[in-house]
Amino acid sequence: MFRFYTARARFDAWLVADRLKQAGIKAHVFNQHASSIVGDVPPDVAQPQVWLEREQDRERALVLLARLQEEAARSGTTRCAACGEDSPANFDLCWNCGASL
Ligand SMILES: [Zn+2]
Repeated sequence: MFRFYTARARFDAWLVADRLKQAGIKAHVFNQHASSIVGDVPPDVAQPQVWLEREQDRERALVLLARLQEEAARSGTTRCAACGEDSPANFDLCWNCGASL
């Protein structure tokens, strides 16, 4: 298992992990609790992280990540009025609480 991606926001990490799982890549999202799992992570690494189980998935995952980031750059983000989480601007519903955006 290795750290593949450090996200700027929670939805970002979940989107990346979701996309990877759809492609058959085993991915896990860790949040600020990552330090207790890994042990040697610097204390300032409190952002959500995506970890992959298999090293051989890295190349394919990088391609998917690049594609996802292109999509995200095009759409931007919208903040949910109900819970305050950011969602991709092309979402109709908040990924976190399901409120209409
Ligand atoms: Zn919300």
